[in-house]
Amino acid sequence: MNLIAYVNNRFLPLEKATIHIEDRGFQFADGVYEVVACIGGYFLDLEPHMDRLERSCSAIGMTLPRSRDELEELVRETWKRNPYADAMVYVQITRGAAPRTHLASASLKPTLVITSRALPKPDDKKLAHGASGITLRDFRWKRCDIKSIALLASVMGKQEAHRQGADEAFWLDENDHVLEGCSTNIFAVIDSTLVTHPLDHQVLGGIIRRMLIHIAQDAGLKVAEHPWKLATTNLSECMLTSTTNAVLPICRMDGSMVANGTPGPVATQLRTLMLQAMDKLRHS
Ligand code: PMP
Repeated sequence: MNLIAYVNNRFLPLEKATIHIEDRGFQFADGVYEVVACIGGYFLDLEPHMDRLERSCSAIGMTLPRSRDELEELVRETWKRNPYADAMVYVQITRGAAPRTHLASASLKPTLVITSRALPKPDDKKLAHGASGITLRDFRWKRCDIKSIALLASVMGKQEAHRQGADEAFWLDENDHVLEGCSTNIFAVIDSTLVTHPLDHQVLGGIIRRMLIHIAQDAGLKVAEHPWKLATTNLSECMLTSTTNAVLPICRMDGSMVANGTPGPVATQLRTLMLQAMDKLRHS
């Protein structure tokens, strides 16, 4: 498949789209990113993605390398030049290339990379039996609200989950509160309320997390954002959210069943509503 990438003002075949070895993204993970879903040519929540990108840039002392309109146009154009109706468009901004030294010159030209690939669909087995997770004590940095490209801890967490035969690793704070996954947010149903950790420095404000809260409220469910633990009595369901998973029930955690170990009614209903909301884009 001949994919086309955007890199620093040019659209190029993927294998020709390269960056400098002294790019600060490569040397320091000095950059931020977004993954935006495109469904049948319509972008899901592009504005909140752009807001988050702008916030991430600002948090690391950068401004967006183009105006928002220009960036959105480049995102659309990259999608158009690749052959997927349902796609995930990846946008990465780094501080630019320079001889390696921690303190960057303010005059560096940022590196902007955009790619577009097929949006993965969860396999049927995952849908029927739910996802499985493990928990790990959080060993990430203290600014998980920034969508940083420094993802080593998340890579290590995923590797450990895979080693244990699970799909995702979820981070616990020092009091065993469940924060989020390596690349997902997590919700529980406790006493019929949909609960998730509040947005703070330990959690990324997921676009699907935000959508799920709205969808659940619209469906008449109570939603609460407060710290919670897996061992809570009356916890009846868990589910994860992300752009590539939508909403997925979690049926096993650390080798034990979550509640009765099957996808629960709330997660099943919310997944259906989320997929409907996503599919509606096609007809918008
Ligand atoms: N938390 C983390 C740490 C993530 O990396 C991601 C996905 N990038 C998410 C949550 C989910 O975010 P979104 O709903 O925007 O895909």
